[in-house]
Amino acid sequence: MAEHGSIFRAMLQEFDDAARLLELDPGIWKILTQPKRQIIVSCPVQMDTGEIEVFTGYRVQYSITLGPAKGGIRYHPDVTLDEVTALAAWMTWKCAVAHIPFGGSKGGIICDPTRMSRRELEALTRRYIAEIIDAIGPEKDVPAPDVNTNDQVMAWVMDTYSMHVGHTETAVVTGKPIELGGSLGRREATGRGVMIVAREATKHLGLDISRATVAVQGFGNVGAVSADLTARTGAKVVGITDWKGGVYNAKGLDVAKMLAYTQEHKTVEGFPGGEPLTNEQLFTLEVDVLIPAALENQITVANAGAIRAKIVIEAANGPVTPDANNILQARGIFVVPDILANSGGVTVSYFEWVQDRYGYFWEESEVNARLEKKMHEAFHDVLQTSLRYNVDMRTAAYIVAISRVGTVTRLRGMYA
Ligand code: NAD
Repeated sequence: MAEHGSIFRAMLQEFDDAARLLELDPGIWKILTQPKRQIIVSCPVQMDTGEIEVFTGYRVQYSITLGPAKGGIRYHPDVTLDEVTALAAWMTWKCAVAHIPFGGSKGGIICDPTRMSRRELEALTRRYIAEIIDAIGPEKDVPAPDVNTNDQVMAWVMDTYSMHVGHTETAVVTGKPIELGGSLGRREATGRGVMIVAREATKHLGLDISRATVAVQGFGNVGAVSADLTARTGAKVVGITDWKGGVYNAKGLDVAKMLAYTQEHKTVEGFPGGEPLTNEQLFTLEVDVLIPAALENQITVANAGAIRAKIVIEAANGPVTPDANNILQARGIFVVPDILANSGGVTVSYFEWVQDRYGYFWEESEVNARLEKKMHEAFHDVLQTSLRYNVDMRTAAYIVAISRVGTVTRLRGMYA
């Protein structure tokens, strides 16, 4: 029996609510609420000082029912088995909602990458991959970047795996540099997906994205692309904040200029095209669409009552706490949950894996067109389910995911 703490329990609570409405078979219920496999490894690394440090690493494959497990690797001092297990479960539901043939997994190493040299990080990455090598592979489990890992780390993952199997195997990992089998459009994919669901959500509420007002928290990979692409539809992005500060302009911010500004200043704070804006103020703006694209637990019981947006698009993972979610629902705010809203990233990761296996690479326009189709379908599958069961979009997304994984579990039957 796996060791389950609070984050995993929070996931189970969301799962149970949807499973009850679905009248899920109790046997399938038991199967889907346990991780398939949890791996714990010790990774000794010789540090630059000459001393040996031993780091603990995890890889949890929550489900391989729909296909190879899929999920990122994070490097952080607070990584726990409980957290990695919950994140692996969420990847399972996200892949199922996105309707891609992947299960869900996650990896993590307890370390502080901000205090490690590039050589130490490379050594740690290679040793971790060597320790879990039998469990990963294009048909088994396909890692990707997550918190504090990037395309360079994925290049080391790909190289280490390839050295072990004796040939170059690009499809073992996604989020790689383009030069070694990465996909065009991957970097922008999550933000592009956010823009697509924002467009569909406004349409559903009888609004028009090209005339909507938008506020975005976070101006990193996801937030900046979401703001940029949303502004390109004609929408007015009136507020943007990041870790340091923010900017407001009722007439609409020039997002393209802000991208250039942040290249130089590493923050949006001080951007000359608007007035200063705090994170607290951003959440109280009267806008059509609010996009939290920074961190988890940003909308809590403390500020959920003050939110005046009509729509909240969860671009980040877990930006709304469960209690705050109840407040938003009670106030009639339309929330697009993270497992749908930010699934553009894993969808294009799937495209990367397909292209690597084909050895044939698509134009960026083809990647974007296929992403558009997948996100549109995913949004409307969840919306139809929410209307059919008369539930919010989060519960509906779980219903879609659980019924897809549950159906395949039942069809495959019990191997004994
Ligand atoms: P990132 O590191 O590129 O950007 C994070 C942004 O949040 C930065 O602009 C940072 O300044 C801002 N930020 C940090 N702390 C803040 C604070 N306290 N208040 C306001 N802003 C703050 O990260 P990212 O890749 O854009 O990821 C953002 C979120 O989206 C995370 O929750 C991540 O898990 C999720 N996500 C990312 C992807 C992806 O493809 N990158 C895919 C799915 C989900």
